[in-house]
Amino acid sequence: MRNEMEMLLKLQEIDYQLGELERSKDYLPDMVSNLEKEIHDTNNALKQTEEELKKQNLEKKHLELEVDSLNQELSKFQKQMRVIKTNREYDALTTEISNRKLKILENEDKILELMGSVDEFEEKLVELKKKKERVNTNNTAQLKTLKREIDSVGTKIKIKEDERRNVTVRIDKRLLATYERIKKGRGADVVVVVKKGACGACYKSLPPQRIQEIKMGNGIITCDSCGRILIWTGE
Ligand SMILES: [Zn+2]
Repeated sequence: MRNEMEMLLKLQEIDYQLGELERSKDYLPDMVSNLEKEIHDTNNALKQTEEELKKQNLEKKHLELEVDSLNQELSKFQKQMRVIKTNREYDALTTEISNRKLKILENEDKILELMGSVDEFEEKLVELKKKKERVNTNNTAQLKTLKREIDSVGTKIKIKEDERRNVTVRIDKRLLATYERIKKGRGADVVVVVKKGACGACYKSLPPQRIQEIKMGNGIITCDSCGRILIWTGE
């Protein structure tokens, strides 16, 4: 019986590993898409920042050119000021001049604002370039490993299944059937250790007589509450 228990534990260990391999079929591709998404998002953020910076620099250039031409108009009007003859001409020219001055001030405010923003975006761009470098290097390496892992899952499962067959042929058919039935109903933990006088899975306490029987290891003893196979490892 002790030997069969060892085989059962071995079987359970193989089933844990098989379960993990099956789960990896889901989570490995998820990890791949997360890493790919991070590369994609970082590249996009960099591209957007570059475009925004370009747009702001263009707008700044445009405003500076406008200020230049406003200044030229201004000096033209100021020359005309020296040769005007009527009050009406004077009023009209004064309005033109103050409109231009106002517009120049407005543009200069916007240019200052843009200069601050351009600085910010240039700093952001430096950070994003560093991040892109880092993410590309790290994620590409991880992706390579993950893809290799994904490719080998099938083979690993086959190896484990062979191992499982080699173990199951050495276990009594009725005991194996019990194991499979519990596994189907309760999941991966079929053989559980007695802990603090109770079932290690459902924590239902065990009578001393039952614990004694488990210690002896003379037969298969299952938990009254959850039905799992109980073993003693000397708590
Ligand atoms: Zn139990």
